Amino acid sequence: MAQARTSADAPADVIIVGSGAAGGMAAYTLTKAGLRCLMLEAGRDYDPQAEVNMFAPESDAPLRGSSTPDKPFGYFDATVDGGWEIDGEPFTNREGTDFRWWRPRMLGGRTNHWGRHVPRWGPYDFKPFSRDGLGVDWPIAYDDVAPFYDRVEKMIGVNGGPIGLENHPDSPPDCLMPPPKPRVTEMLIKAAAESVGIPVRPAHTAVLTRDMPDPVAPRKACFNATPCTRGCTIGAMWQTTTSFLPMAKATGRLTLVTDAMVARVLTGTKGRVSGVEYIDRKTGKRQQVRARAVVLAAGTLETTRLLLNSGEAGRGLANSSGQLGKNLTDSTGATFSAYIPGLADRPRYNEDGIGGQHIYIPFWDYDRQKRGELDFARGYHFEIGGRFGIPPMGVMPRVWGGDLKKAVRHASGATISLVLRGEMIPNADTFCEADPQVKDRFGIPVLRFAFKWSRHEINQVAHGRRSAQSVFEKMKGTLLFDPNVPPEKMMTAGGEIIHELGTARMGPDARTSVVDSYGQAWDADNLVLMDGAIFASGAHKNPTLTILALALRSSERLATRIKSGAIA
Ligand SMILES: Cc1cc2nc3c(=O)[nH]c(=O)nc-3n(C[C@H](O)[C@H](O)[C@H](O)COP(=O)(O)OP(=O)(O)OC[C@H]3O[C@@H](n4cnc5c(N)ncnc54)[C@H](O)[C@@H]3O)c2cc1C
Ligand code: SF4
Repeated sequence: MAQARTSADAPADVIIVGSGAAGGMAAYTLTKAGLRCLMLEAGRDYDPQAEVNMFAPESDAPLRGSSTPDKPFGYFDATVDGGWEIDGEPFTNREGTDFRWWRPRMLGGRTNHWGRHVPRWGPYDFKPFSRDGLGVDWPIAYDDVAPFYDRVEKMIGVNGGPIGLENHPDSPPDCLMPPPKPRVTEMLIKAAAESVGIPVRPAHTAVLTRDMPDPVAPRKACFNATPCTRGCTIGAMWQTTTSFLPMAKATGRLTLVTDAMVARVLTGTKGRVSGVEYIDRKTGKRQQVRARAVVLAAGTLETTRLLLNSGEAGRGLANSSGQLGKNLTDSTGATFSAYIPGLADRPRYNEDGIGGQHIYIPFWDYDRQKRGELDFARGYHFEIGGRFGIPPMGVMPRVWGGDLKKAVRHASGATISLVLRGEMIPNADTFCEADPQVKDRFGIPVLRFAFKWSRHEINQVAHGRRSAQSVFEKMKGTLLFDPNVPPEKMMTAGGEIIHELGTARMGPDARTSVVDSYGQAWDADNLVLMDGAIFASGAHKNPTLTILALALRSSERLATRIKSGAIA
């Protein structure tokens, strides 16, 4: 988006911190409702239409585009200025913890290079305690969120098909764009998996399979140019920089300031907040801005960090429950791959479809779990990988020159992966807090993490491994993982799946939670949290569709309250 930096002095009804999924939805909804918004974004301005090179082949990049410490998702990944490490902006871990934190620092946040897998959550996911006695129930149920899922699927453009399984609610008929046809490898996986009782269904993906006309931000159907993590110049994958942000700007009611690192929320009179203080990342200058309401959408952990560093020293803002920083979760992750000889030496053809998987494996074993036959609570799903490309070294013979070329051609497209993503249950050993000793280059205290998987997550990954093995055996594949390694040694580290949730959870009252079901802080009714911080628990399903649905719900409620005079 060109010329994002405009004056923060423009009067605003609402300050929005962050321009990713949640902030983008807030800006879009509130400006359309007639409210003037000031959006403060820590990262730099970013315009995928001007900056992304969709057509450059990997061979044009250093190391043929492979990942490096600077570019862990490959040379062409859209991330600018953010990542696992940010110069001058550390975070710390308690002894024995290895939590990883991926932080964006660019307009549009993580939506510029995300995975786009957007399953709906189901009834069990909002009432987990009622089902298995662990964690807490949300103060809202699936039926409260469903109308917002319907609208978000249409607003951002999601393709997919019916799932028809327990705890995987289907979308009403007009919500989804048609799904792409499964690829050959995917059809084989489906046949193998379903023969051992594991269902395979169309994935729901935030990628257009039809054009989406709009006078301000028209978007085109995907033609699978390059990996979507580069960003999409035609707007086929949903990212706020090609959708909600230009649409909100076109109302004339959005003032957008980039390189604005919000340091704290300012408290006002009568238990309300009055605005925020931010630091210009380029000049180091501090500035205070005020508005009738403040929306925090800086991404789960940055939102909580802001609250921990605001209000009462040592306790934070909106923390009368003492729950701020607690109930942190990430998804479990593990990748199981196999070489399938039957897929080798396939004739070459175009198997593009849309970027990413076309089908996936939703969790299917709720019934056995309910009968107490599984040794873990909650579920997981498999995302599916495997297309023509350079085969992994593990399946290559030790040959060189022409023989190596032949071997690569032979094995290309014959390796498939089942990538597990599972639910983590909040536990008392997993949380974040303001580090009492370490500050970042702006003088803001950094976050310190404690993290531990419980036996539920570890047993869940072991179950996933057995399931993957049974599918691969059916396909007569050679396993590229050791089925005897302890599952905890195969799991990703906490934070590595970049689905961090919780730490300012919603609940039924101020005693047990930080916000109500609209993200409104119990301790300050003009402070609204709109990102994953407010989740009362995770699910195995990726979180962003639910973040968007809740942000839409909360934004509409905030607009109503401001317009009715409830927030003067
Ligand atoms: C590689 C990758 C793959 C992913 N795949 C999927 C997937 O398939 N499905 C899915 O559902 N989710 C996926 N996710 C997660 C998804 O991107 C996030 O859930 C989503 O973007 C969260 O939206 P958000 O608005 O809360 O945060 P973000 O999108 O991270 O936006 C937060 C914004 O706030 C800004 N900010 C932070 N601190 C401050 C501050 N102090 N002051 C001002 N601004 C600040 C940041 O710079 C950022 O722009 C993936 C993420 C990554 C990185
Ligand atoms: S694969 Fe499709 S959605 Fe992804 S970047 Fe390319 S055109 Fe856009």
